[in-house]
Amino acid sequence: MIIGLTGGIASGKSTVSNILKELGACIIDADRIAHKILKKGQPGWRGVVGYFGTDIIDDKGEIDRKKLGKLVFNKPEERKKLEKITHPIIISQIKDEIVSLKNKCNLIILDAPLLFEANLDRLVDRVWVVYVDRDIQLRRLQERDGLSREEAILRIETQMPLKEKARLADIVIDNNGSIKKLKKQVIKHWRELKMKRIALIAHDEKKDDIIEFARKHYDLLKKCKLIATGTTGKMIIDKVGLEVERMLSGPLGGDQMIGSRVAQEKLDGVIFLRDPLTAQPHEPDITALLRVCDVHNVPLATNLATADLILHKLLEE
Ligand code: PGA
Repeated sequence: MIIGLTGGIASGKSTVSNILKELGACIIDADRIAHKILKKGQPGWRGVVGYFGTDIIDDKGEIDRKKLGKLVFNKPEERKKLEKITHPIIISQIKDEIVSLKNKCNLIILDAPLLFEANLDRLVDRVWVVYVDRDIQLRRLQERDGLSREEAILRIETQMPLKEKARLADIVIDNNGSIKKLKKQVIKHWRELKMKRIALIAHDEKKDDIIEFARKHYDLLKKCKLIATGTTGKMIIDKVGLEVERMLSGPLGGDQMIGSRVAQEKLDGVIFLRDPLTAQPHEPDITALLRVCDVHNVPLATNLATADLILHKLLEE
């Protein structure tokens, strides 16, 4: 799984990235790559100097980033041109790093300030956005970079609004509070990432079976992120005491909601105790869920014996 980590200027993305590094995450730093490709002799250097001219290079032949910055600052056309030269190279190098890390790491964090702006979100499975309210962002930016209020506002306004980024995120990390609070959230989300995500569904005649199954495997299921159709989920919460994210009831579309998670590769297994002897009001809906599991190669159990096997296998890794 690849997580795209982004935020706005002075929102605390780098702090989150450092916390993740301490937790052992494999991190691809898009900024580092963006710098690297502009080094003398690199493909980005050739493209940028080719377009902007040799005036932007210093005595050592390196690109003077300040000079380059001045040429594109407040000039959207020139900035676009620069991005058109550099972004494809950055994206291709990020892809190379993903390929080489994939053998070593189950989870990769792509730390990229311009994740959305450079369309890097297409490379990731989930997006985490580090969010702060605007007044706090403004204050932190002024303090950090020694800027006047006006200068800080200008910097913030050249970026895509942070609220918009948060709206597009799968997870929003709130950095309005202390570093301790920030760390707590990051650790929680990090742990959840490592949890297996399992869906539980049972037809009415199989509700007792799913409750018994959940009781029997309480310790294993406690280590998982569970989702369930409405009634099944409520019963598991009330009778077994496990934490469950509830979808709509099956006949109202809950099965399809779970199917959509399978299609988005957000589930590691589906346990669907179906009743083969009674006609269901929402037949043949369930076929769509079974099919999507086959399409995405997601383990699917439709009876207790297979459910036992799948659960143990998923959690033994
Ligand atoms: P339910 O749905 O958990 O809401 O009863 C299960 C089903 O698909 O029949």
